[in-house]
Amino acid sequence: MKTRREFLRELSAVFAASTLPGAIPAMAGTAAAPSAILHPLSAAPAGAAATSPFVGIQMSPHSMLYEGIGPCLDLIQRTGAVNTVFPYSHAFHTNSLGQPIKEQAPDHGKPPLDLRGKLPMVWTKHHDEYFKNTSLRVKPTDPSLQFADRDLFKEMIKPSRDRNIKVGARILEGSGRAVENFDQVRTIDVYGKRGSRACWGHPDYREFWKAIVADLFNHYDLDAFQWGAERMGPLMNIILPWNNDAPTCFCPHCVERGKAAGIDPERAKEGYRLLYEYVQQLKSNAPKPPEGVYTLYLRHIIRYPEILSWQYQYRLSREDVHRGMYTTIKAIKPSAYVGWHVDQQPTSWDVVYRAEMSYAEMAPYSDFIKLILYHEILAPRIKAWYLDRFKSTILSELSLEESLNIYYDIFGYDKQVEPKVDELTKKGFSPDFVYREVKRSVASAQGKTQIIAGIGFDVPGSPPDDPERVYQATKKAFEGGATGIMISREYEEMRIPNLEAVGRAVREHH
Ligand SMILES: [Zn+2]
Repeated sequence: MKTRREFLRELSAVFAASTLPGAIPAMAGTAAAPSAILHPLSAAPAGAAATSPFVGIQMSPHSMLYEGIGPCLDLIQRTGAVNTVFPYSHAFHTNSLGQPIKEQAPDHGKPPLDLRGKLPMVWTKHHDEYFKNTSLRVKPTDPSLQFADRDLFKEMIKPSRDRNIKVGARILEGSGRAVENFDQVRTIDVYGKRGSRACWGHPDYREFWKAIVADLFNHYDLDAFQWGAERMGPLMNIILPWNNDAPTCFCPHCVERGKAAGIDPERAKEGYRLLYEYVQQLKSNAPKPPEGVYTLYLRHIIRYPEILSWQYQYRLSREDVHRGMYTTIKAIKPSAYVGWHVDQQPTSWDVVYRAEMSYAEMAPYSDFIKLILYHEILAPRIKAWYLDRFKSTILSELSLEESLNIYYDIFGYDKQVEPKVDELTKKGFSPDFVYREVKRSVASAQGKTQIIAGIGFDVPGSPPDDPERVYQATKKAFEGGATGIMISREYEEMRIPNLEAVGRAVREHH
């Protein structure tokens, strides 16, 4: 929780920032009372909502429009004790919102409907005047798509206010499919080729995000905002490869940043190229190096310490994007509750992300950090996305069992309680994992930012959920010190008994 002094310091920083060229001037009369920032929910009318913990829910926008705004809000409030709803304003991360019918909850009162390929990616109206500092633009929405004529964030405000439910917008960064001129801001890899994602350091990309949130908060009466980018840094993407893309970014902006930090960009690039090529070789069926697979990994890091320094700059430049959005939003609406989606990899197995920075260090531009702590689906993910991948790269000398035990020990999870190797595809992680990860994160935040636990259930591909485990996981999140929870992953997947289990734990908690 922030102290009053911290609040005032932040507020003055916000107003100072608003005098910079290109920044949005703070609107008169929008400065909220400090309490509105200290307790994001305290602005709610008197009653249970004012004292209940933050309970958000992630939702695809079409769910609410399909089920009906009022009935949907009633359902999530009654079952899950939800007090803040987060539809996507922009679904940049996906080619297609919506789920196959078999993955949708059948018990929401309306029959599941397969809308894949028929839904917009962007659910807000944009205004060109906010995009003056960037060449990027959001592509217009195809008017023939389902619900393209609706303006969800305008339509849902009053029904939400009537029920003391707050409205947040949620965005996941993505490939650029919905963004004009995106090719200009793509990363540049070690071979000088364009990468698949945008560069955090490109001014047009940074300004694009400020423009998006300025437009959003000037035109919609939003209470909260959550933004995330599910992508790995260059080092992890080599040693624990999500894809085979060559390491990035070595564009002129990143080169300048590296130089300013005292790093030789050519050495960094060479180090990354050699490490990448080494791991690519490991992944092929070539004979293993007789000196040792892990040993030679270490040799690269020792010869090219620039690899680590470059990775850290990557992270800092990503954090600058957070800071830019935060400052922009606070200049428009100081009471907005603004925070970041930290996906399952950084929360649950990316030790590089964990080592780079504490959550306290992110606090100056984070009202909250929302952690993905989906306990059931984590087990198959650890098998496929951690153990198997490391086995094919730098940890091939360990058996899967050894690798899993080391993982449990390093991350502080209880190997007596969590699944064994051969159980990972059938049995989820336990509610104790949620407790331990929340507790660790609260310690990392040092009281400077709030930890919101993303409780996930009914995620496709997950070992079966049951309401008792969902209840326990929610309870454990509060016991670990979470300020609140985010019911995840998508509302359309969530079965009512599991939503009710969350609601039960929330109501018992306060
Ligand atoms: Zn770059």
